[in-house]
Amino acid sequence: MDADVVVVGAGVVGLACAADLSRAGLAVVVAERHGSPGQETSSRNSQVLHAGIYYPEGSLKARLCTAGNRSLASFCEAHDIAFQRAGKWLLAVEHREEARLAEVVARGRANGVELEEVPLVRFRSEEPHVRAAAAVLSPSTGIFDVHGLFRALRAVAEDNGAIFAFRHALKGAAPVTGGYALVFEDSSGNEVRLTTPMLVNAAGLDADRVAAMPGLDVEAAGYSQTWTKGSYFRIRSARRHLARRPLYPVLPHGCGSVLGVHLTVDLDGELKLGPDAEVLGERRQDYAVDEGRRDSFLAAARRYLPSLEPADLAPDQSGIRARLQSFGGPFRDFVVAEESARGLPGWVNLVGIESPGLTCCLELAREVRSLLGG
Ligand SMILES: Cc1cc2nc3c(=O)[nH]c(=O)nc-3n(C[C@H](O)[C@H](O)[C@H](O)COP(=O)(O)OP(=O)(O)OC[C@H]3O[C@@H](n4cnc5c(N)ncnc54)[C@H](O)[C@@H]3O)c2cc1C
Repeated sequence: MDADVVVVGAGVVGLACAADLSRAGLAVVVAERHGSPGQETSSRNSQVLHAGIYYPEGSLKARLCTAGNRSLASFCEAHDIAFQRAGKWLLAVEHREEARLAEVVARGRANGVELEEVPLVRFRSEEPHVRAAAAVLSPSTGIFDVHGLFRALRAVAEDNGAIFAFRHALKGAAPVTGGYALVFEDSSGNEVRLTTPMLVNAAGLDADRVAAMPGLDVEAAGYSQTWTKGSYFRIRSARRHLARRPLYPVLPHGCGSVLGVHLTVDLDGELKLGPDAEVLGERRQDYAVDEGRRDSFLAAARRYLPSLEPADLAPDQSGIRARLQSFGGPFRDFVVAEESARGLPGWVNLVGIESPGLTCCLELAREVRSLLGG
């Protein structure tokens, strides 16, 4: 099998890279350790098309998210993927949070995001069950079907000749003349070898491990990821009338984050709370949701949905964020790097692709293509 480029990982980012690079005429092989696309973080998230509000002006996250908000919406439309421009509410639940809300709005506007300060009378008529001291509408926020996105991106890639090698886990990579010698393990435990001139590391939670394979010093490069689990609780269907749009309360300074436990509304109008944040001490993909977290979810959500009762909540899914940023630490941007300067030409690392990675997937792929020479 000949490849111009091997993409490691068939999450949404690897799929988008495969679609984009194959459209540019390259022979693409996608290696994925699971039996189908999107089995890890890409299918364990809020499925929100973010607007690009929270990220520092000029950062990759800000730039790719605002562009991705448009390009992914167009892609969904062109490929018949379920999508709604649902909008979302940013909330100051207490008066003391209004200054923080104003900061978030200023940041969003600096990024070019449309945000509308809505009079409380109108907010209360639209969301009569929600308590807030101030509300701002982000009309460009959307929700969409990630599984439809996986199918469409895979179809584009395959139509352009890309080959998917499922149940192939990359175990080792060594620089050789003209590229990289790769060793995979297939589902029977056999070694499969392949040499490629270019490689795109879209390995999500293990992107730092893959980055280390050809000898890169991951610590020195600042690529070490920590895993932070985010759990969700769903609100029973009988109470879905409690909110019409997603609700994102801001938190006062000193909480380590601007985002509190928020509420999302899915394409069927069902409500879900989360994700929260639990830094994992060990790297284990345990997606069970701890019932014991119900009280903290309830307390956080009751601030803005005071009529919620314990019996309204049931544990739902969870996902794990691959983070470069320590909790409450300074902002870290996505890493999208072609590693010639570290002696690894043609090797592109995508590291720290936490939220809004889903929204940015097409734009991340565009960045990768331009790093590999367009
Ligand atoms: C709780 C939560 C909520 C989120 N909500 C949103 C949201 O609403 N909107 C948004 O824009 N973003 C959101 N995100 C972020 C978004 O989900 C991620 O940024 C995105 O899914 C990352 O995609 P990925 O392809 O990089 O990673 P993944 O989906 O994890 O894909 C990586 C793939 O690489 C494979 N892999 C790893 N190592 C190897 C190897 N050695 N060999 C072969 N294959 C390998 C894995 O099996 C996996 O399939 C959320 C994230 C979390 C955790």
